[in-house]
Amino acid sequence: MIKAVAFDIGKVLLDFDYSILVRKLTPQTRWNESELNIYLNQSPLLARYESGELGSSKFFRQIKEETGFRGSETDFAALFEDIFTPISGMIDMHRQIVRAGMPTFTFSNTNEMAARYIARTYDFWPIFTGHILSYEVGALKPEAKIYEALEECSGFTGGEIVYLDDLPENCAAGRERGWQVCCHKDVSCSCEFLRELGVLNPSLNPGSAS
Ligand SMILES: [Mg+2]
Repeated sequence: MIKAVAFDIGKVLLDFDYSILVRKLTPQTRWNESELNIYLNQSPLLARYESGELGSSKFFRQIKEETGFRGSETDFAALFEDIFTPISGMIDMHRQIVRAGMPTFTFSNTNEMAARYIARTYDFWPIFTGHILSYEVGALKPEAKIYEALEECSGFTGGEIVYLDDLPENCAAGRERGWQVCCHKDVSCSCEFLRELGVLNPSLNPGSAS
């Protein structure tokens, strides 16, 4: 019996594009776009921030020192926030699940600046039952610790939990725990998956709820 649904955020509820940040940040640093892109995407810096090892101020100070960024932390946060686009079909689907009375949880590798922005910007945030966020838990998916945090917070385990995530390695770690996992590709596949499990009412279409 399904008791809760866990949603990854990035590329499931919200699309994101770090290249937007890189483009806007570059003219305010001494680096070029490709250097900055490698630094933000491939260095361990972001992982250290998202695992909670670095707080926002330390993360920002390190970027400022290394890249020569000329703005303030507030300026940086504003650029850092501007990378998201809502995936409305998934957000509608989440709303339908909530309306049906099912507890839902965000389950995301993310950081404080992004979470703060998403929380104040998108009305799906407060209708989640709880938020399991890597920087708060101190572990990144697919580490077991964050999956355990979701089980602990929700009070459910194994097949009671339905989980949607776009990254195969995160999905695999959920399946190993017996969770019912959908490796999200697009709205219609995920919708079909949730209908088959009876989580979503078959008569409702994504986008039809308002
Ligand atoms: Mg994702």
